[in-house]
Amino acid sequence: MAFSGALTLTDLNDYITPAQACIKPVEQTNRIEQDPGAASTQIHIDSSGSYYEVSTDTKSVATTVKKLEQAQISLNDCLACSGCITSAESVLITMQSHTEVLNFLSSNPSPLCSSHKSPVLSIAPQSLASLATSVSSTSSAPTTTLHQILRRVQAFCTSVLGFDHVFDTTFARHIVLLEHTQEFMERRSGDNSDGGKLPMLASACPGWVCYAEKTHSEMLPFISRTKSPQQVMGTLVKNWMGRNWGKKLSEIYHVTVMPCYDKKLEASRQDFYSELYSTRDVDCVITTGELELLMREKGWDLSIPVPGEEGEVSPSIYPSSPPPPLYPGSADLHPPRGGETFGLNGEEPPAHTSSAVQIPELLSHPGTSSGSYLHSIISALTLSHPFPLELSTRTVRGADYEEYVLTNPETGEVVFKGAKCYGFRNLQNVVRKVGREAGVQVGRGAAGRMVGGRVRKVGQKGGVNGVNGERERGYDYVEVMACPGGCVNGGGQLRPSVRAQVEKKTDEEGYERDWSGSGVKVGVGMDDGETNVQGYAGKWGDKDWTKKVESAYWHDLPTPPASPALESSEVKINGHGRSTREADRYAAIVLRDLCEPEILSGGEGLTWETHMGAIAEEKRRLHFRTQYRAVEGEVIGLAVKW
Ligand code: SF4
Repeated sequence: MAFSGALTLTDLNDYITPAQACIKPVEQTNRIEQDPGAASTQIHIDSSGSYYEVSTDTKSVATTVKKLEQAQISLNDCLACSGCITSAESVLITMQSHTEVLNFLSSNPSPLCSSHKSPVLSIAPQSLASLATSVSSTSSAPTTTLHQILRRVQAFCTSVLGFDHVFDTTFARHIVLLEHTQEFMERRSGDNSDGGKLPMLASACPGWVCYAEKTHSEMLPFISRTKSPQQVMGTLVKNWMGRNWGKKLSEIYHVTVMPCYDKKLEASRQDFYSELYSTRDVDCVITTGELELLMREKGWDLSIPVPGEEGEVSPSIYPSSPPPPLYPGSADLHPPRGGETFGLNGEEPPAHTSSAVQIPELLSHPGTSSGSYLHSIISALTLSHPFPLELSTRTVRGADYEEYVLTNPETGEVVFKGAKCYGFRNLQNVVRKVGREAGVQVGRGAAGRMVGGRVRKVGQKGGVNGVNGERERGYDYVEVMACPGGCVNGGGQLRPSVRAQVEKKTDEEGYERDWSGSGVKVGVGMDDGETNVQGYAGKWGDKDWTKKVESAYWHDLPTPPASPALESSEVKINGHGRSTREADRYAAIVLRDLCEPEILSGGEGLTWETHMGAIAEEKRRLHFRTQYRAVEGEVIGLAVKW
C-alpha cells in the first residue's frame, strides 16, 4: 500500500495503532557522502524516544554521536496515509486499484457468455473538477468545464477500456439530499425510531464515519443514516438501472472514481454487500489520481476535445413522459400489490425492461463543493416555514468552520443553528461541543484525551453560556468533512503539477519564463516513476491549487454564496438552470420503482416526502439508509502533532 511517499506501513497484522504505523523518520538535511567502507553508522533511540546517529570510524575506531531531528508527521500525512486503519481494511483497499479494474476488464468474458458482467463507471463531480483543473493548468485553451471532462472520460472509458456506461454521481447526490433532509425533518419532529438524535451530523464522509466508529462511538447516534452519494449511486446502478437493463446485481461490475481513498473502505462495508448475489453495490473504487494514471498508461490525452463535448446535455435525460413502470400491466406509480423489489430477494428481472432510461447529469446543488448538505437543510426549513426567515453566518475558524443561524425576525426566535466543519482539527472541536451540548461523555479517542480534565459537567442539555450570558443554542446540524477544504481537497485528488508550469512556458501572471534558468527543476516529479507515480510534484493540501479545483467545480455557475440564498433551491443542470422539481420528479420515479409504494398521498403522485406505508418505507431504508457500529479494538486515535 503506498498512499504517501512520506510514510511507510510496517505491521499489517493487527490494528495499526499510531505507535506501530507512524515511523517517525529521522531527517538529515546536510548529508555528507562518505567512503562506504570508512565508517559504520547506526541509529539509536534512547528511553525518551530521541534519535541519535552513532558513527564509528573503522580506521581510528572513534565514535561520534549526533542527535537527529525528528521529521514531523502532519495531519495531512496521516490523511494521505490512512495508517490507522486495520490490516483487514488495508487489504480491502489494496484490492481496489486501477490494476484491479484492468484485470477485471481483460478477464471479463464476451457479452455472449452468461458469466459476462456489464462494466459501469460512475465519477464524482469533485474528481471531474480535479481533472478539469489539471487539464486547464497545462493548456492554453480556455478553462475546461466539468461537462467537457465528463464527455472525455466517457469517451476514454467506453472506447478504450470497454465500459458500457459512464455516469457522474450528481443525481445520486440529489437523492441523498432528499433522503437526508427527510431524515433531519424526522428527527426534528421527534421521530427517532431508528435511534437517531439531534444534532444530526453529515454521513457522506467515510473518513469522519470511520474515525467516529473507532474513537467516538458516542457520536454514532448523531450521524445521519442516509447513505453517501457513492453508495446511493451503487443502488441506482445495480438495483434501478440494472432493472431497466434486465440485469441482476451480479451481472454488473460497478467502478467509482472518487476524490479519496476512504471511499474504498466505504464501498467495502458489510452493509453494502449482497449475500444473495455475492456482490457489492460498488465493486471497485479508484481515486482521481488512479484514473489519471490509467489514462496516461493507455496513452489517452485528456486535454484533447472529443466529438459532442460542446453540445447540450442529452434532451432525453428528462423525457417528457417518465420511464414506464417496471411492472408489466401496471399503471404509472401503481405497481402491483405484493410485488417484491427486484434484487433484494433474488427474483428475476422484470420481463419489461428498457435500455433507453438514463439518469440526469451534472446536477449542481448550491452550497458547498462537498455536497451542499447543510444548505439543502437550510433551504428546506426556509421553504417550509410559514414566515420569512433571516440567515446569518459567523466564521468560527476560517472558511472550514462556519456557523449558520436561521432566525424568525418577527420574534427573534432562533429556528435553526448549523455549522459547516471541515478538517480533523475542527472536527475534534465539534465532537467536544456536540458531546457537551448533548450531555454525552466524549470518548477516549484523540479528542477525548485532548479534552482531558476540561470536560464540563455532562448530562445537562443546552450548552455553554453565550457572550452576553444567554444560554447558547446548540447545533441542530453539522456538515462534517474530514479533509480541510472538503472533498475538492481529497487525498486521492491530483496535485499541482510542475509540468503544468513548465509546459505553459508562462507564469501565473502570463509572463514567459525560462523555467530552467529560473531554477525550476524541469522533470522533477514528472514521469520519473520515483518521485511521484502520478507525475505530480505538489503537496497535498496546497491551498492555491484547492481554490482552483473549487473554482473549476463551480464553473459556469454562480460561485456559491458565503451565506446560502434563502430563496434559492434551484438545481442547476450542466450549467443551465432547471427547476429542482424536474430532478425531484425523476427521483420519485426511482422511489416508485425501488420501493413499490401501495399508498399514495391524496392521489397527487409520489414525492420524496410521501409516507409510503410500512413495507415500502422499509424498502426505502434498505435502499437509501445504512447503519454504523462501534469498532472494538485497541485503536487509540490519531496521536498526531497538529
Ligand atoms: Fe473523502 Fe475528504 Fe471528502 Fe471525506 S472530506 S469524503 S475523506 S474527500
